[in-house]
Amino acid sequence: MSEAGNVKVDGANQARVIAPGSTIGVLGGGQLGRMMALAGAPLGYRFVALDPVSDGPCGQVSAQIVAAYSDKDAAAQLAAQTDVITYEFENVDAEVAALLEERSYVPQGSRLLYTTQHRLREKAALEAAGATVAPYAAVTSEAELDAALRRLGTPSVLKTATGGYDGKGQFVIRDRSQVSAAYAELSATGAELVLEQFVRFQCEISVIAARSSNGETSTFPPAENIHRGGILHASIVPARVPAGVLAQAEQLAATIAESFGAVGLLAVEMFYGQDGKLYVNEVAPRPHNSGHYTMEACVTSQFEQHVRAICGLPLGAPDLRTPVVMVNVLGEHLEGVEALMLSPESAGSDLVRPKFHLYGKAEAKTGRKMGHINLLCGDVNDALAWIDEAGIWQSADKD
Ligand code: ATP
Ligand code: MG
Repeated sequence: MSEAGNVKVDGANQARVIAPGSTIGVLGGGQLGRMMALAGAPLGYRFVALDPVSDGPCGQVSAQIVAAYSDKDAAAQLAAQTDVITYEFENVDAEVAALLEERSYVPQGSRLLYTTQHRLREKAALEAAGATVAPYAAVTSEAELDAALRRLGTPSVLKTATGGYDGKGQFVIRDRSQVSAAYAELSATGAELVLEQFVRFQCEISVIAARSSNGETSTFPPAENIHRGGILHASIVPARVPAGVLAQAEQLAATIAESFGAVGLLAVEMFYGQDGKLYVNEVAPRPHNSGHYTMEACVTSQFEQHVRAICGLPLGAPDLRTPVVMVNVLGEHLEGVEALMLSPESAGSDLVRPKFHLYGKAEAKTGRKMGHINLLCGDVNDALAWIDEAGIWQSADKD
């Protein structure tokens, strides 16, 4: 480890404090790493990203090792150059994770990654933490899918147990006649499968919990999430659900983070059911798209909180400073947003103040996350109207 003098061991709980001035290694070089580096720099940290693509979102604002994620020599190099290592995506190669844990300090460990990399393991751990999940069944054959569908009813969602993101690797079965097609499509991925009952929800919410290496836990205000085509479109904060539900959601996320022994951020996605109950959909042990609103709207951003948590610093205040709506900028929205940024509208009005975040990705493909805008406002309806009136996120993009 470099700068070993910066690493202090806190005798009381053995959590290491990684002091400002130290170097943080990030496995992955996407937008989450970029925003982590941008948030950690004011605290005095340096960043080195490991990513196969040079000059990507993170590499533009940090040092970088250009190599495949599974490259053990590169992982060893990352360990040698840094004082603490974190990751910004979940599908970290198990062997690389083990090597990094052996050679470096990885406060998040690899156990939580192992759990969240597989939907069945994740659901079992969530249930053990006392959370409610949608009724589900493991599926290993078409006959099993048919039997599970009889039990869970329609609609249900068939998902790959591993590797899914942005709604990929999912098939909503609305009718029994779709069993063969659903099984054929998803079994072709080679992944294990899980069938989940479709939760009839009032809305989707998420809570970003933070737990530091010394056990301190904190949660951000819940976000209400609107998806389009399986991809997050907007997050609305405060979420438009009763205050009691907001409190319950934050408590649930904190309980899960503690039960999982999480260090760093743990994003908890939930459905607020029509029956008034909270169902946990999935968790992610990293900064989350639905937490981007914290960047200007909270006293501490999720990225700063993550850095504080893994470095063993006291956690920052998560308080919401202003209502906010975060809207994602996908490839198909980029041109419109870039034009908007150059126009007089860029500064916003007294009602809605847009804060732009572009990730510096070279290619603007449809559905690819290129940036987001945090719309600071007094009333979230004004921000929602701003999105409509901008004419960039037309209904043609909808499901
Ligand atoms: P992401 O990476 O965006 O979180 P993902 O590919 O990991 O997505 P999920 O979060 O499991 O997938 O599902 C994506 C979206 O599909 C959910 O946010 C929700 O809108 C819908 N969905 C998934 N499972 C269910 C379910 N059991 N009941 C109702 N809606 C569901
Ligand atoms: Mg999800």
